[in-house]
Amino acid sequence: MNKIYLDNAATTPLSAEVIDAMVNVLKINYGNPSSTHSFGQEAKILIENVRRQVADYLHVSPAEIIFTSCGTESNNMIIKSCVNHLGVERIITSPMEHKCVAETVMDMKKRKGVEVIYLRPDKKGDFDWNKLDEILKSSDKKTLVTLMHANNEIGNLIDLKKVALICQENKALFHSDTVQSMAHMNLDFSDIPLDFASCSAHKFHGPKGSGFAFIRKASGLKGIITGGPQERTLRAGTENVAGIVGLGKALEISLSLMQEYSTHMQEIKNYTIDRLSTEIEGVKFNGRSAEVDHSLYTVLSVLLPYKDPLIGLKLDMKGIAISQGSACSSGATKPSMVMMMLLEEDEMQNSTPLRISFSHLTTKEEIDVLIAALIEISAGYSIEKTNAEHR
Ligand code: PLP
Repeated sequence: MNKIYLDNAATTPLSAEVIDAMVNVLKINYGNPSSTHSFGQEAKILIENVRRQVADYLHVSPAEIIFTSCGTESNNMIIKSCVNHLGVERIITSPMEHKCVAETVMDMKKRKGVEVIYLRPDKKGDFDWNKLDEILKSSDKKTLVTLMHANNEIGNLIDLKKVALICQENKALFHSDTVQSMAHMNLDFSDIPLDFASCSAHKFHGPKGSGFAFIRKASGLKGIITGGPQERTLRAGTENVAGIVGLGKALEISLSLMQEYSTHMQEIKNYTIDRLSTEIEGVKFNGRSAEVDHSLYTVLSVLLPYKDPLIGLKLDMKGIAISQGSACSSGATKPSMVMMMLLEEDEMQNSTPLRISFSHLTTKEEIDVLIAALIEISAGYSIEKTNAEHR
């Protein structure tokens, strides 16, 4: 059975070039970047080259890029340090955030007594930015706003610049979890006055265990891992040189082929929307998932008009890897927070969300196989329904 991978928002396969670049480092550049001899210095140069490359992509200074182990660590470091070191007493966030932000914010509330305010989305997943402005103006407490750029379950995008400007005007710090959009979109942080952002290499064909945090210069942020002077003391621990080089190679490929990749994925996404709309009666798309201008081209969130908690398993048995929500919540029986925000109670009881996420490797033929599988599964439901009606 030919397997089909449609869970690229959870993680992506490594590119061959990334593997080669990493193997080279593992074999040859095994020096510790903190060592002053040539082995160490060669490894150090590799890291600094990637730092420069990332900084160029984001139009920031290399000193503003701190390598970490993943998106989760970057988000933890930023939120925790804002509270522990920058005097943040209030956090404004949304119920749509990834667990690594949501749980960290909750932790700061429980352990540090931080006030937490949730900006509620409407049924499309949109926020009222006037409301954000109003909340910001309602208190003098030092505030951090943390809102993700691209939602990992439905692909909804927020206008980063607009939110950053509102935060700046109100003297609030602004952090955006940019894990799903980094390397998939052009981001110019010289034009967007946000303070912090995060990245994870495995979302764009780089290795797991490698990411970075963008930390605006002079923000005063400190790290949460103490030890040696690595990463300007913001993130102690011997650097994952191969992981950083892998991140750099994956970023290089993503940026040089962004136009081609995004066109291909948007085409595949449109094709999937068209085919699903024609073949599955009553199918819906969650949030702004089906809208080109308001959604990331890598993610399509579908709502099937019947309840099938085993659909992920059924598709997996047909060789199709797909997620029922985000990877972190797909094993859980509880509906995700995002779906709870977007769906009415009866919709939750009688429908099944599916997240289809694409890469440049996804083909129309693979989508055809998925659609055929979904037609088969869906037919089972209408037959059951008809039989029940006849009984
Ligand atoms: N933020 C978002 C939006 C994500 O989708 C993910 C991963 O799914 C993360 C953060 C966590 O990233 P990592 O897997 O690198 O810890």
